[in-house]
Amino acid sequence: MKREKFMMREEKGVRYFFFPHLEETGLIIHGITTRHQGVSQPPYDSLNLAFHTGDDPEAVRQNRKLVSQAFGFDLADLVSCQQVHGTEVLKIDARYKGCGALEYGNSIADTDGLILVEPGIPIMMCYADCVPVFILDPKNKAVCLCHAGWKGSVNGIVVKGIETMKQKVNTNPEDCLVGIGPSIGPCCYEVDKNVIDPLSKNFPNWARFVKHRKQDRWMLDLWELNRWQLLQVGVKDKNIVISGMCTSCWQELFFSHRASGGRTGRIAAVCMLK
Ligand SMILES: [Zn+2]
Repeated sequence: MKREKFMMREEKGVRYFFFPHLEETGLIIHGITTRHQGVSQPPYDSLNLAFHTGDDPEAVRQNRKLVSQAFGFDLADLVSCQQVHGTEVLKIDARYKGCGALEYGNSIADTDGLILVEPGIPIMMCYADCVPVFILDPKNKAVCLCHAGWKGSVNGIVVKGIETMKQKVNTNPEDCLVGIGPSIGPCCYEVDKNVIDPLSKNFPNWARFVKHRKQDRWMLDLWELNRWQLLQVGVKDKNIVISGMCTSCWQELFFSHRASGGRTGRIAAVCMLK
């Protein structure tokens, strides 16, 4: 039987996706939520997990409570950050527990990558089309979760993640297992010069990541852009799994910033070392 590369399960009334190759290490609890089974009202219906969207903060707290119960962590310990489409990656420890758990104001500022080396610290990053990337180093029992939108992808957030893991925990990229989660896909992500200019500046081989659509419009493949960078820094192809799910095609299941015209909720990637 063919092994599924990306699966969904339901736990305590919350369905979420996970990568079997990450879970099978026995080292982490992780998953990516859907937009269903929460309490938020439209256009945040219903499992919106981000405070900065304009949604009722009490609804977001209730949704986060549901997710914490599904994954089995204490909401008071949750760490989340103010994601700014940058390349800042931070190794966190127990002192950060609770930062951003219940309100946006005290979450970690200006950070798009979090590294965990201590067990029992739950982290959450929020997405609506941007790419969630999990990088697990099973040898050193460390994991990095990245938020890679087009800016983060073009500026190498995943490379920064790997480099930071090398510095902080002596990671060998060849050992790393990677899961690239649902985001807007090459089927739906049309971009113009505003994206192509910085992309082509940073990547002389940029043409391999796009398909020309018409005049000054291209379809960008963020999954391949991130996969290629990971390969360049030594991650093995066989260790990288791409979910292949497009948040715009699957807007019934996920939140899509692009497909919704901007006012929408956020799904989340959740991770904790056991
Ligand atoms: Zn699509």
